[in-house]
Amino acid sequence: MRCQEIRKAFEAGEVSGAEVKGHLKECPACRAVAGDWNLLRAGFMGLRTEEPPEPS
Ligand SMILES: [Zn+2]
Repeated sequence: MRCQEIRKAFEAGEVSGAEVKGHLKECPACRAVAGDWNLLRAGFMGLRTEEPPEPS
């Protein structure tokens, strides 16, 4: 896979594919991008878990 395809996969949220992981092992540049995306995703998930429960 090429870097462009990998980065499109990041944008689509497909960062756990075997092809993506294989590319990240060989491509420090995409690894840095993947790190950013993981942080973003973790941030979004953190926000979700911090949402207060709905009022009853
Ligand atoms: Zn790459």
